Amino acid sequence: LQNIVGRLQVNDPAPDLASPFAAQTDFSTLPAFTELRMQRSMADLVDLENPFFRVHERRAGATTQIETRVLSNYSSYDYLGLNGHKEVADAAKEAIDHYGISASASRVVAGERPIHRALENKLAELYGQEACAVFVSGHATNIATISTIMGPKDLVLYDSLAHNSIVTGAMYSGAERRAFPHNDAAALDKMLTSLRPRYKRVLIVIEGLYSMDGDVPDLAAFIAVKQRHAAWLMVDEAHGLGVLGKKGHGLHEYAGVDPREVDIWMGTLSKTLSGCGGYIAGCSPLVEILKCTAGGFVYSVGMPPAIAAASLKALEIMLREPERVERLRRNGILFRDLAKEAGLDTGLSLGFAVVPIILQDSLVAVALGQKLFERGINVQPIIPPAVPEKSSRLRFFITADHDEAQIRETIAHIAAERDAIGDGRAIVSRAKR
Ligand code: PMP
Repeated sequence: LQNIVGRLQVNDPAPDLASPFAAQTDFSTLPAFTELRMQRSMADLVDLENPFFRVHERRAGATTQIETRVLSNYSSYDYLGLNGHKEVADAAKEAIDHYGISASASRVVAGERPIHRALENKLAELYGQEACAVFVSGHATNIATISTIMGPKDLVLYDSLAHNSIVTGAMYSGAERRAFPHNDAAALDKMLTSLRPRYKRVLIVIEGLYSMDGDVPDLAAFIAVKQRHAAWLMVDEAHGLGVLGKKGHGLHEYAGVDPREVDIWMGTLSKTLSGCGGYIAGCSPLVEILKCTAGGFVYSVGMPPAIAAASLKALEIMLREPERVERLRRNGILFRDLAKEAGLDTGLSLGFAVVPIILQDSLVAVALGQKLFERGINVQPIIPPAVPEKSSRLRFFITADHDEAQIRETIAHIAAERDAIGDGRAIVSRAKR
């Protein structure tokens, strides 16, 4: 990759001399745009298609349709295959007939509906917590929550692989923020021993299942650390719900820990629960503060009732049919084990729904993704800035709806194309001059 960067020339537009500041009004001079153009030019040089923003013509599950082709799909996180389940779709349709499409106001004013409360009660119950608040976006849930409860005299400590929404929430809170080494409760403990006395409140944020690597934290160890240092512990279960634990209840079930030991359970409705939005389950004062003062709740429209109804139904099906969770587990572990047998690097993955194939080079990741696409497999490359260059990868989301033959065939295709690409030198030497 470094070899071809030097060959690129990105020409900035000629400055408008009418005003010394004129160039500052041109969006294409923003550094982010220059970087995007640079990436695109690199891909063009080596004849790689843009793998992002592909248009899927119908519901994307274990298979998907892109233009006229039907492909095996590993880019969607419909973990239990509930998106489009008849009962889920019927619940959404009934809610539309009853409530209309929009809540038409913030819940604080005229947007509150019984279906919001029903969903929140069910989620609170799942975590043994007093209360729950649902937000219209999972990303906004982390930002609104962390930035509301933390402030300038406080400290936010998050895992070094924490999701963008967690880091952004910490940034917006004005609190001091630090990342601790991935999944390392002992390192966190050490950091807190020296840092704790300097701050009023401390929030530790971890994820239930890490979405790029497919590994999980030792929940009991993090609870011990937060107790030792009088801190709050927040767990983002975006990818853990429906995946971890025999019944899919998430990290606490997997770890055999009482969920009330965690101060803040955060999750999203967009994965297992086939909807859109996020939630916070915790004690009543926390939820009341969020519902009455968090900008992302108070100054945002209430969740569309059809989404709340769909996610509630999906949650009920998840609880009713643990065999889906079992199927997902079998598929994920099969995928991970076969990949390892084929000599592929699956990194830290435990085989729970998320299995990366680490390629250490963004060009190789995009090229392999394209080759697989040509063979009828849709999978997303994950490249900088989402991960460091050295851990560029293809990230496979496995679902309960994939089947064994499909998984075996996919691994055979990956292994064959991986061997053909090698370290990527052949791609670079083909680059147009
Ligand atoms: N937290 C994590 C760990 C995530 O992976 C994501 C996005 N996939 C979010 C929060 C944001 O959720 P949403 O996409 O539902 O807004």
